[in-house]
Amino acid sequence: MLFDSHMRALLAASVALVNALTDGEARGRRYLAPEGADRVEAVRAALSAGTDLGLDAADQLAGTARALRVVFEAVAADRLDDAAPTLNALLRDSGARPQLDRAPGQPWQVHFHGADDSYAVGWSAGCATGLAMALGGDYAGRLGVCAAPRCDRVYVDTSRNAGRQFCSTACQNRVKAAVFRARRAGGEEE
Ligand SMILES: [Zn+2]
Repeated sequence: MLFDSHMRALLAASVALVNALTDGEARGRRYLAPEGADRVEAVRAALSAGTDLGLDAADQLAGTARALRVVFEAVAADRLDDAAPTLNALLRDSGARPQLDRAPGQPWQVHFHGADDSYAVGWSAGCATGLAMALGGDYAGRLGVCAAPRCDRVYVDTSRNAGRQFCSTACQNRVKAAVFRARRAGGEEE
């Protein structure tokens, strides 16, 4: 299944929200999700949101991010039966629905909206739909949690060969360096 740009944007937004707004570990360090005004900033950065984003919307999206993390972790552990009901609940709660939208001069495209067009509900519905389309299609195995030590940031593998394991090149390099050090230490002992 090929994803159009709208679907890719929704998957990227899901990843950005989970990684910015959920506690855990990131690239070798403890990660505490920001709160208050910092949370608003984090959402703004994750979604390239406008300046009118409020704390209520940011808090709502933090709740969505925690639910989306449950989905990523379940899929990464091959527990699709746990991931699906979580996504279904999110689709139901946000009132996710398709709608044809058109930018001036562009063809009509299917976009996903929520029960209302408020910022938080709209993005919650969109992200839930993006992950549902991935999980229910050939992209189920593409949702992942970083395999590096002390990191639980998530990713969607959109590479052609589906070989991604890490959230970032930073983590990939950390693991490579550790393997290199281990090999060298092993060599010196011989
Ligand atoms: Zn990582």
